[in-house]
Amino acid sequence: MIVIMASNWATSFAGFARAFSTSSSRMVKARKYLMVTHFQGEPKKTDLKLVEEELPSLADGEFLCKAKYLSVDPYMRPYMMRYPVGSLMIGSQVAEIVESKSSKFPVGKLVVGSFGWRDYTISDDKESENKPYILPDFGDLSPSLGLGVLGMPGNTAYFGFLEICRPKPNETVVITGAAGAVGSHVGQIAKLKGCRVIGFAGSDEKCNWLKNQMGFDYAYNYKKVNPDQALKESAHKGVDCYFDNVGGELSSAIINRMNTFGRISVCGAISVYNTDISKMPKVPILQPTFVFNQLKMEGFLVTRWLNRWNEGIGQNLKWIKEGKLKHKETVTDGFENMFEAFTSMLRGENTGKAIVKV
Ligand code: NAP
Repeated sequence: MIVIMASNWATSFAGFARAFSTSSSRMVKARKYLMVTHFQGEPKKTDLKLVEEELPSLADGEFLCKAKYLSVDPYMRPYMMRYPVGSLMIGSQVAEIVESKSSKFPVGKLVVGSFGWRDYTISDDKESENKPYILPDFGDLSPSLGLGVLGMPGNTAYFGFLEICRPKPNETVVITGAAGAVGSHVGQIAKLKGCRVIGFAGSDEKCNWLKNQMGFDYAYNYKKVNPDQALKESAHKGVDCYFDNVGGELSSAIINRMNTFGRISVCGAISVYNTDISKMPKVPILQPTFVFNQLKMEGFLVTRWLNRWNEGIGQNLKWIKEGKLKHKETVTDGFENMFEAFTSMLRGENTGKAIVKV
């Protein structure tokens, strides 16, 4: 189980001392996780190796970042299969700039960067698609939200739902992976748009949270219910929009109950991320449903809206400040617990956004 606690000063001091071990010549040792074996099934601890490397002095335009919060996300599981053994585990983090030779990235600022699973990183201010950005001002809110509701997952919910499902008031919206970072956010946007909202999540506790705290009209534990029966009860007029985080049989059952001109936003397929490709589940033929109900299904990557990134963050921040958007984090303490945070998220032990606090 994940432990939610604040990091203690001794750990912080030890990290500081380790990094800046001499005052005359700076010597920074970074820790990073390499994938030493491709994952098979659920990732194993031995698939990763934590190594140290000494970082060089900064060149012009470079800056040194110290990780404060790291994200663990479902996409890391399938994406790492594309990389060769020995690659750095991918991922983003909120980090503090502790040394800089760039006027654009001054010391003391927080950045969001795709630096991977590492505690110290040298980055630079060159233009690139994946360049780090200075964390916007969230006021009193935790900077960690830059990895969740006010970052990539928040923009996934905002753009992936609104641009693809285009929900209208009084329509029925179904969301799978509903108690996670993206799903819990989509459901709240759907309520703001005047929709009837139905979620599927993996425990009774999560379902109660969705109904009692997040404003969902119905929430079902997909491990216990027959989805068809559940939707007969909650979506008796059919489903207009489906935000699909999981794929598989559950998604097929939902798609089979969609109305004419229904819209499906395909965000992810976490139900099969740990599955051997040769053993993928066989799902029913959906083509007749698509034809007769004239359905539209569209996959997306949130990076499609990189040019509108700040619009998404700005709107989500506004909703939070107006009390219209709630968020929850499941925080694991300690960089050395990255693996546990990652696999417990894949197992469904998180509610809301899973992050690691360094
Ligand atoms: P998340 O939902 O916070 O965490 C993952 C959740 O997946 C777990 O808590 C677990 O909850 C659920 N899960 C695990 N195994 C499952 C299974 N076999 N069947 C159904 N649910 C299962 O993660 P997130 O960051 O919000 O991501 C949600 C989805 O969005 C993922 O598929 C991810 O890949 C996708 N995504 C896509 C984009 C994009 O650009 N397209 C961007 C971000 C995220 P339960 O307890 O409910 O099982």
